[in-house]
Amino acid sequence: MNYNNFFKDALGGLKAEGRYRVFANLERIVGEFPRAWLHTGNGEEPRKITVWCSNDYLGMGQHPKVLDAMQAEITGQGGGAGGTRNISGSNHVHVALEEELASLHGKEAALLMTSGYVANWTTLSTLGSKLPDCVIISDAFNHNSMIEGMRHSKAERRIWKHNDLEHLEQILADLGPNRAKIVAFESVYSMDGDIAPIGKILDLCEKYNALSYLDEVHAVGMYGPHGGGVAERDGVMDRVDIVQGTLAKAFGVIGGYIAGKSEIVDFVRSFGNGFIFTSSHPPSIAAGALASIRHLKESNVEREAQKERAETLRQRMRDAGLPVMDAPSHIVPLMVGDAAMCKEASDRLLYDHDIYVQPINYPTVPRGTERLRFTPGPLHNDELIDHLINSLLTVWSQLGIQKAA
Ligand SMILES: *Cc1c(COP(=O)(O)O)cnc(C)c1O
Repeated sequence: MNYNNFFKDALGGLKAEGRYRVFANLERIVGEFPRAWLHTGNGEEPRKITVWCSNDYLGMGQHPKVLDAMQAEITGQGGGAGGTRNISGSNHVHVALEEELASLHGKEAALLMTSGYVANWTTLSTLGSKLPDCVIISDAFNHNSMIEGMRHSKAERRIWKHNDLEHLEQILADLGPNRAKIVAFESVYSMDGDIAPIGKILDLCEKYNALSYLDEVHAVGMYGPHGGGVAERDGVMDRVDIVQGTLAKAFGVIGGYIAGKSEIVDFVRSFGNGFIFTSSHPPSIAAGALASIRHLKESNVEREAQKERAETLRQRMRDAGLPVMDAPSHIVPLMVGDAAMCKEASDRLLYDHDIYVQPINYPTVPRGTERLRFTPGPLHNDELIDHLINSLLTVWSQLGIQKAA
C-alpha cells in the first residue's frame, strides 16, 4: 500500500470535481464587524474585506458584555477548566450556564457539551442505542451531526421527506404506538432558510407517543421574544422533549447543549460518552456564552435589526433580478446551480470586490443547486448592501449566470 498516493489521489478527486475546500484566512477586527482582514499569503499585505456569510449572526462575538465577561473570567480563573466535568472540570460558571439554558428553553435542566455537533452526536447516539428497539425518524435534510449520531447508535432509521407531515405520519402509524421512537428535526434549515412546522410535528409526536428532538442551532438567540428559538416564537416550546442548540452561532462564542426534562438530561449526562470523556470548556468561554444569552434574552434590538436587514437584502436582490431563493428566515440564499460557476463567482467577489461569501456546494446541498448563502446582520449597512448588489450584478454578467425568471 502506498499511503501517500492514496491520500493524494483522493484529494485530486475532490479538486477535479471543484469540491476541494479552501479556507479564507481571516482576522476579525473588534468594533468593525462585519469587516475583517483577509490574509492572502504570497507576501502580500492583508486586505480588508466584508464578511457576508458569518454565522455570528448578530455580531455577539464582539459584544462588549461578552468580551468583558470572558476577560474577567480569564483574570479570575485562568485558561483551561482543568478536567472533564466529572474530574475537577465542573466550574461554577458551567453550572450557571446550564441553569440559564434550561430557563431560556423553559426546561427543567440543560447539559453543556463541547459543541453543537457533539451535542447532536452524543444525544442521538446515546438515546438511540439505549432505548430498547428504538427507531429514529429523521428529516431528510438533517445536519451531518445528527446523521452521524444516529448511525453510531445503530438504531433503525427511517427518513421522512423534508418537512412532509403526511409522510411523517405514515411512518409513525406504521411503527405503532408501542415502539420507542424519536422524531429528529431542525427548526431553521440553514441552507434553504426554510422553517419546520414545529407545532404540527409535535401534534404527531404526541399522537403516536414519540419523543421529539429539535435542533434549534440556527434559531437560538434569533427567534422568540427571548431568543429561545422558533419553538418559543410559535408558543410550543413546552411541548418539545429535547431541544438542542449551539453557543457558537447567534450567541457568538463556542459550545453546544441540550435542554429537557431532568430525567432525560440526567440520562445523557450519565450515559453519553461524548459528554463524559472530554474536558469541559474554559470558564471564560462559559462566561462569554452566559453574558450573550442573558443579553439576548432581554434585548430585541439585534434580532429586529437583523430581520430588517435580511428583508432589505432579499428585496434589493429581487429588484436587481438576482435569483434569490424565497425563505421565511434570516438566511438569504442566491441560486447559482453549478459547482464550478459558484466557486468562480465567490472568488471574483472576493478578489475583485472585497466581498467574502463562501460557495455552498455538494455534499452540503444537492448537485445542481449550488449557491451563495448570505447571512446579513445588524451591522451590514446600506452602503455595504449597495456595494454587494453592484458587485453581484457585475459578476453575474461576467460569468453569464442565470438571473431570476
Ligand atoms: C452548525 C450546526 C451544528 C453544529 O453546531 P456547532 O456548535 O457548530 O458544532 C448542528 N446542527 C446544525 C443544523 C448546524 O448547522
